[in-house]
Amino acid sequence: MRVLITGGAGFIGSHLAEAHLEKGDDVYIIDDLSTGSMDNIRSLQKNTAYKDKLFVHINTILNPDILLDLTGICDVVYHLAAAVGVKTILDKPLESIVTNIQGTEKVLEMCNKFKKRVLIASTSEVYGKHMHAPLVETDNIIYGPSSKFRWSYAASKLMDEFTALAHHRTNGLEVVIARLFNTVGPRQTGAYGMVIPRFIAQALNNESITVFGDGTQTRTFTYVNDVVASLIALMASDQAVGEVTNIGGVEEVTILELAQKIIEMTKSSSKIKFIPYEEAFGKDFEDMQRRVPSTEKLARITGFAPDKSLEFILTKVIESNKVGS
Ligand code: UDP
Repeated sequence: MRVLITGGAGFIGSHLAEAHLEKGDDVYIIDDLSTGSMDNIRSLQKNTAYKDKLFVHINTILNPDILLDLTGICDVVYHLAAAVGVKTILDKPLESIVTNIQGTEKVLEMCNKFKKRVLIASTSEVYGKHMHAPLVETDNIIYGPSSKFRWSYAASKLMDEFTALAHHRTNGLEVVIARLFNTVGPRQTGAYGMVIPRFIAQALNNESITVFGDGTQTRTFTYVNDVVASLIALMASDQAVGEVTNIGGVEEVTILELAQKIIEMTKSSSKIKFIPYEEAFGKDFEDMQRRVPSTEKLARITGFAPDKSLEFILTKVIESNKVGS
């Protein structure tokens, strides 16, 4: 099979590329390296077993020519290219909206032209401000005001979901939508704000651990290999077509508990430093207080759901950071 991955040099995209190469598939990547990095795919490029199987195009999904060429020759398309991380969204609001909305529109149009099945990577951000758990795909959506720019990310990804579903309804395009919860694993950078790589780097350097707000906000983390297995299983399932499905982990943790656990596991002398949100992100920011997925639908459709404990995930990421340092 020939697989096209937009954003294939990103953290999740590179793990997905590796999994498809291991299965014997040909992998085509489009990445503009805005938040992706050649370092993420270097080992794949060097692997002689993948010579003539991996094709990397440093280009933007906003370029119709490259999309036309690659969508035409591939069997399925994973659309992962997007503005990632709260920090990116706040630093580059317009660029992020253009990438997310126009980029997805173009990918969908091209997939429709060639009638190729396409998986759109959406996000748990789409749910907005909920306090209940778990979040189910049919839940209502609650956003803050448009002055709080964080919600532009959620709104742009929600529009991507609607556009994909509209292509399915109108054109019969086979679209699969995956709402990814906080994903972690080796190769994830803290440069775009992601909490686990940031806390682990801070702990390993015995620097202050920067907990934003009071640390009572919670998240549920998913190990990247489980996310990749879920994406591949959803893509292969006819039941996932025209559907939105959560991909998320199992253990809810407060950000303060997370900081404490990382200090303990790394035997760090770091102290926790509480930083007000306004200082971290400016006044136009609002956090999501709680985020826990239901993966019942994923399990029903694919027979699989992520199950790795936080302890397992942190051990893996700490190990990889030590090796990488
Ligand atoms: N966070 C934190 N310190 C950091 C980075 C993040 O306390 O140095 C918090 C952030 O405010 C959020 C949670 O950790 O409540 C997860 O943040 P991340 O950016 O990883 O993902 P999000 O779920 O916000 O998209």
